[in-house]
Amino acid sequence: MDLAQLIRRYSSESACEEHLFQFRCDNGLRCRRCDDDSFVLVHSKTHSKSTSQKTLIECKSCHYQTSLKSGTIFQASKVPLRKWFIAAYLIANDKRKPDAEVMAQFLEVSKPTAQLLINKTEREMAEPTSFWKWIS
Ligand SMILES: [Zn+2]
Repeated sequence: MDLAQLIRRYSSESACEEHLFQFRCDNGLRCRRCDDDSFVLVHSKTHSKSTSQKTLIECKSCHYQTSLKSGTIFQASKVPLRKWFIAAYLIANDKRKPDAEVMAQFLEVSKPTAQLLINKTEREMAEPTSFWKWIS
């Protein structure tokens, strides 16, 4: 997959979320309440008047809900998943050391945010159960 293909395939948040959801299901995700292992993705509004949606994983058996991003490197990040995907692609496929300045411009985020993305992504890539195995 080249960068243009990656950007096309993961142009929407929901496409990225679907990928993350699949990864979590394939990697032994279990319901905290009933230990079942089948889930559905649900989108719920955080407030009745709010337009922002939170994406949740819901257990098919007991309907227990947990955030899709909880326990992942994306937890608490305001950066959209598609930007993470692009950053990870660049880090995995470019032999040079990732440059926060270049990354910030490319992703249209601040330089500190770009640096944080680089640090977290590099650390995660070194893990044996890394989410990023598919990207390099
Ligand atoms: Zn359950």
